[in-house]
Amino acid sequence: EQIKIEGKVVAITGASSGIGEAIAKHLAKSGARVVLGARRADNLKTITEFITSQGGQAVYKSLDVTNPDDVAEFAKFAVDEFGTLDVFVNNAGLMPLSMINSYKVNEWHQMIDVNIKGVLHGIAAALPIFEKKDSGQFVNITSVGDRWVGPTSTVYSATKFAVRAISDGLRQEVSNNIRVTLVAPGATESELPNTISDPALKDQLVERFRTSLLPANAIARAVAYAIEQPSDVDVNEIVVRPTAQK
Ligand code: NDP
Repeated sequence: EQIKIEGKVVAITGASSGIGEAIAKHLAKSGARVVLGARRADNLKTITEFITSQGGQAVYKSLDVTNPDDVAEFAKFAVDEFGTLDVFVNNAGLMPLSMINSYKVNEWHQMIDVNIKGVLHGIAAALPIFEKKDSGQFVNITSVGDRWVGPTSTVYSATKFAVRAISDGLRQEVSNNIRVTLVAPGATESELPNTISDPALKDQLVERFRTSLLPANAIARAVAYAIEQPSDVDVNEIVVRPTAQK
């Protein structure tokens, strides 16, 4: 039985920066064969080259998670490159916070398309592969906002609540050999604040967490913990906050 990370083929969406980049680097360091996906191919290329320069195994393919065909091709690419797929990390996401009465309807749609539909596309892409070999693992990255709502986070939290519900339902529907893990980060160093279009709101958020951000690698270690368990151990949920975030 394979209980280590070493050799596992792990596909990661949103691997061009932040948490996804950290997951790719950390797992590759632990011997996983990683497949990086996102829209910014230049970033993916640089990160992939860094990993391989350190002796890791990595490939990349650009994808937009809002396009189901892209995501299906991404999962197939992993199998074509490395012969199998063991873990699919649904990480791509954005967080354009705003008050509801700002009516940023396009941003609501974007969050629903990337944060919810993107995850569903990942499931549709990887589950048939997992079912065929009757093994595999989903790691869905939500947020502490998957169980908490505050002003300006209403729609963002709604998308993450949805992913938590989807993960719980998926876990119960799949065979006993397929694992579903939810990882819910608190405030973490990444490019995520750049998705906030209101400059004052962005500054406020950055200021609030200036001295209390998790390094993205802290989330990568949580993901690694879930992956490295024996296959009959399914770590259902991990919530990680900076100690100073209450
Ligand atoms: P980043 O902005 O650094 O990373 C987001 C990633 O998602 C990028 O790689 C981006 O790549 C990708 N992405 C966005 N839209 C798409 C798309 N349409 N198709 C494919 N990829 C896309 O932020 P984080 O690393 O923080 O975000 C990663 C996840 O962590 C998100 O789901 C976020 O909600 C979650 N999270 C983050 C927290 C934090 O404090 N940082 C806290 C809680 C949860 P590209 O632009 O190249 O497509």
